[in-house]
Amino acid sequence: MTIVNSIEELKEITQDFSRYSVGFVPTMGALHEGHLSLIRKAREENDKVIVSIFVNPTQFLEGEDLDKYPRRDEADIKICELSGVDILFMPSIDMMYDRDELSISAPAIRGFILEGTKRAGHFNGVLQIVMKLFNLVLYNRPAKLRAYFGKKDAQQLVLIWQMVKNYFLNIEIVPCDIIRDSDGLALSSRNVYLSKEERSKALAISRSLKRASKLVMQNELNSAKIIDEMYKVLSELEVEYIAIVNREFKQIDNVEIGDTIILVASLVGTTRLIDNIWI
Ligand code: AMP
Repeated sequence: MTIVNSIEELKEITQDFSRYSVGFVPTMGALHEGHLSLIRKAREENDKVIVSIFVNPTQFLEGEDLDKYPRRDEADIKICELSGVDILFMPSIDMMYDRDELSISAPAIRGFILEGTKRAGHFNGVLQIVMKLFNLVLYNRPAKLRAYFGKKDAQQLVLIWQMVKNYFLNIEIVPCDIIRDSDGLALSSRNVYLSKEERSKALAISRSLKRASKLVMQNELNSAKIIDEMYKVLSELEVEYIAIVNREFKQIDNVEIGDTIILVASLVGTTRLIDNIWI
């Protein structure tokens, strides 16, 4: 594995990549099994695997956890090495951004509901950095580029699909299932903020989604009723939103099997967690 810390080096080392299919996994580091599942899939499906680790400042809002976001470079490097990654790209902020940058705006509706309401501007930053990383990985025109994203960040995934479509990017986006701990908690780099007590409280989030999926299996498809039941399971948490949307992220009155995502965002203590299921 080669660790690459500069853009010139990345261009150089990928010079002959036009002969290869490339799997790209963008991350913010503090890697866990969720990230690893993306890397494994990329490894299985491509000749070359590139992972990036970059804690992107433009997607953090004022007062969010940019400064305390977990950074574990040494462990991450080991994990990537052991997982058969070919190139680990770890750029600095100065390399990725000018002082006076042009920006990308997330779509006015889908980019500013749910996650985009509480975190207005968050997706502008996400799309901006993902576009930059895509362009770097596309620089030497790989034979095929696949980029791997977790369904855990469902709205992000849908917006990236849209960006690829709107900007005519030659990239296949591969959605990857949510990886959970054995007790159901969706893995997240932010889980390290939880105390023992908070962690056990946080389990209500995945339980509420399980409850929703059970209701759907029992043929209860009414969104309002499902949401009511989910609130009961989440009664001890400070819920930010529960939403039932289709794959286009439009709120729907009734679950449509095969085209529905049920999402929860909640505070657990001071930690904000998100989770969802695709039905
Ligand atoms: P992050 O480092 O949080 O920016 O995440 C990098 C990628 O890993 C994103 O595509 C996430 O959706 C994905 N990811 C994070 N947690 C999980 C998880 N528990 N299961 C599957 N994918 C995940």
